[in-house]
Amino acid sequence: MRNNLWIADLDVEDRARIEPHLHLRDMARGQVLFDAGAPVDQVWFPLKGVVSLMTLLPDDKAVETAAIGREGLVGVTCGPMNARAVSRAVSQREGLAACCDAEAFGAALEVSDSLRLALSRYTEGLMAQVQQTAACNAQHTLDERLARWLLTLHDRAEDDRLDLTQADIAGMLGVRRATVSEVGAVLEKRGLIERGRGWLRVADREGLEAASCGCYGLMREVARELHLPRPQAA
Ligand SMILES: [Zn+2]
Repeated sequence: MRNNLWIADLDVEDRARIEPHLHLRDMARGQVLFDAGAPVDQVWFPLKGVVSLMTLLPDDKAVETAAIGREGLVGVTCGPMNARAVSRAVSQREGLAACCDAEAFGAALEVSDSLRLALSRYTEGLMAQVQQTAACNAQHTLDERLARWLLTLHDRAEDDRLDLTQADIAGMLGVRRATVSEVGAVLEKRGLIERGRGWLRVADREGLEAASCGCYGLMREVARELHLPRPQAA
């Protein structure tokens, strides 16, 4: 379970409050862990994989506003504070999570100041990521946003090859598939990524960072504080 860095960072007593309630669950690519407005009965601690939080728009569109890997937890707005999800949580790839019943997690929070502090610290970081993403989506060009999004995913994927279709990317960024294809071709031509049918590989990580807007660097600082394992680059 300590493959989840948020759990690993807890002190012994707090870990003991949570670990007995954890059970492993597979996450399939594209699986909706919970939908916006739905009750959340589980808190998910990813051990492997990436979960996107999607904000829904009234016209049936959805845009990714945060990506969470093994540095964090998904479903934190449930439990004693809020029993319903404010966004849709979708697994980006095959993965594995340790799940805790939301009620048990809420009960552990009630008796531990340090656990509440750890959660509050994490949700502040998550909020920073969401805010930065919102500003980025409003102001930056699609090629910068695509680079930023791929880097964020790459950090959490622990693999250079990402199983992604054009439709997946278009869905995450809230743009048309044809537009993603055009912008992807530009990044590929510059040697930053390689693309195949249903997959994409980060070929030049440094170059992709240079092609991204400054938002990626700002988010990485926050992520570093949350002990994201990658990137290795300073
Ligand atoms: Zn940006």
